Amino acid sequence: MAATMRELREQAREELGWEKRDPDRYDIDGIVRDAWITGNGSDEVWKKAVEKHYKRFMVGDWVRITVETEDGFTEHHYGPIEAFRKRNGNHYRRHVAKPYAAFLHPEYTRSHVVPLAELVEEVTDFEIVTEWSVVHEGGPQHNYGVYSCIGRHGFAPPPATVMVIHKVSGRRKRFCDACNVPELRVRLADEALMYQRTSKSMVRELREDPSLITGPTAEPSRLWDKTPADEYREWADAFPWLVPGPAAELYAKWKENQSAVAA
Ligand SMILES: [Zn+2]
Repeated sequence: MAATMRELREQAREELGWEKRDPDRYDIDGIVRDAWITGNGSDEVWKKAVEKHYKRFMVGDWVRITVETEDGFTEHHYGPIEAFRKRNGNHYRRHVAKPYAAFLHPEYTRSHVVPLAELVEEVTDFEIVTEWSVVHEGGPQHNYGVYSCIGRHGFAPPPATVMVIHKVSGRRKRFCDACNVPELRVRLADEALMYQRTSKSMVRELREDPSLITGPTAEPSRLWDKTPADEYREWADAFPWLVPGPAAELYAKWKENQSAVAA
């Protein structure tokens, strides 16, 4: 007797489980159809069906969108997918296997409807280091060289187990496994965004005239009297990822010259 659709679905979910895949991230009916009903059930056909019916994004997934602001800045914003939308922005009336766009409402910008093709999984913006010796390198003396998790804990947080690095800014935080979640990781990126927003005038000035960054330094006898160029350079040292390209190049050359003069 031929297997019923229900049995085939169950079988597909089981096989995905054996392959250590999460069945919920797959269109099970699509796999059953392509692999076993219209397909011959070979390993190759199964693999193709599994690949084809993987859902890269689901409601609740944290993603990053890229927003061009009206005043000429590119911002990264993060949030969970709240719903899927059609190409025209309307809601789907029923469940769809291949949604077109996602609706999300990030904390620091207005709501957006963004095609799935333009979404980035939140986690790809972070490097997650798990090696204990690296996570705790230079750890605090008073805690036996062990950093504590700075996630959601009150008194006596557990030791950190991972170091999360925001790739764009290089900013990092240490978490325990339970706190290594999207909501807490994206705070690093949100903080970088806040620095970007407060640095707008610096960025604009250096975009307009990159040579501002190579201006004169303060007189050696009056080092506390910072020149405007000193201030640009101090800012560039603190936020290297925000320095516009041409200014960054000039600054790198300027530093080389300084060390050549000093040597
Ligand atoms: Zn924690």
